[in-house]
Amino acid sequence: MTGTSPPLSAPFDVGFDYTRTLGPVLGPFATALRDGRVLGIRGTDRRVHVPVVEFDPVTGDALDELVEVSDFGTVVTWTWQSRPSEGQPLDRSFAWAMIRLDGADTPLLHAVDTGSAEAMWTGMRVRIRWADERSGSITDIACFVPADSATASEPEAPAAASDAAPVTTVVTPIHLHLRHSASAQESDYLRALEQGRLLAQRCTECDKVYIPPRGACPTCGVPTTEPVELPDTGTVTTFCIVNVPFLGQRIAPPYVAAYILLDGADIAFLHLVLGCDAAHVRMGMRVRAVWKPREDWSTTMENIDHFAPTGEPDAADETYAHHL
Ligand SMILES: [Zn+2]
Repeated sequence: MTGTSPPLSAPFDVGFDYTRTLGPVLGPFATALRDGRVLGIRGTDRRVHVPVVEFDPVTGDALDELVEVSDFGTVVTWTWQSRPSEGQPLDRSFAWAMIRLDGADTPLLHAVDTGSAEAMWTGMRVRIRWADERSGSITDIACFVPADSATASEPEAPAAASDAAPVTTVVTPIHLHLRHSASAQESDYLRALEQGRLLAQRCTECDKVYIPPRGACPTCGVPTTEPVELPDTGTVTTFCIVNVPFLGQRIAPPYVAAYILLDGADIAFLHLVLGCDAAHVRMGMRVRAVWKPREDWSTTMENIDHFAPTGEPDAADETYAHHL
């Protein structure tokens, strides 16, 4: 059965918005960026660090002497990015450069928009091009541009409202776009799910049944080649009651995430147990899959909405004790 159809493949996007508070040094730095200004911080050796650092990189002392530096600076070193990636400062080729702003002693990494690598050189003078809309983030600096062209054509940073509240947090969206290709065995398992079937594989050496099938037995190290269809009933082995709300949560807590050992399987998988008070879920509880409506099925374990108690007597300890 395995390998008769090409393996399944699908986009897999993971991401979240990372939110952090900024504190007494990074907060004013972000607030200044929003207002179209750049702040540095003076270290114990009197050098001015841009971007700001909360602690002196040599002595470790907490720093607090903020100083304003210029929009203009000098390229210290650079490299050319010929094909920009998603999320980078510019959607055309540009330079990544270390730029020492006038008044600063340390360089800042940012993009320089010159149109071509031939127009870039170490020692060139550049100026900030501010973003039209600013929120208190390093991306408020849209990029840098050559200083001579900037003086003629770059607009000044629009002044922020004087009564705007200080920036105290920053939100950083973090995203990863992958294309996941399932193995031949996983593909068979997923195609079976589309038909409402639970397809495992048995090891021909030790007889253990794996679902989802791994393609090989981790105990014996041999390929698992024998397909086994399992029922949608099983036993709760271990579980936890989720009481903590989190971003993207689809069920209101408290609810139960449990390891469920399907009848005939030797390995449990994680799923939801709903349909009863969370406090009533226990090890050995008998459960059955609650499938979504037939028209919603596809090649995913999400076809099973959750598991619910069957009402049968609990399974005896010895039936699942070796599968925890
Ligand atoms: Zn085996």
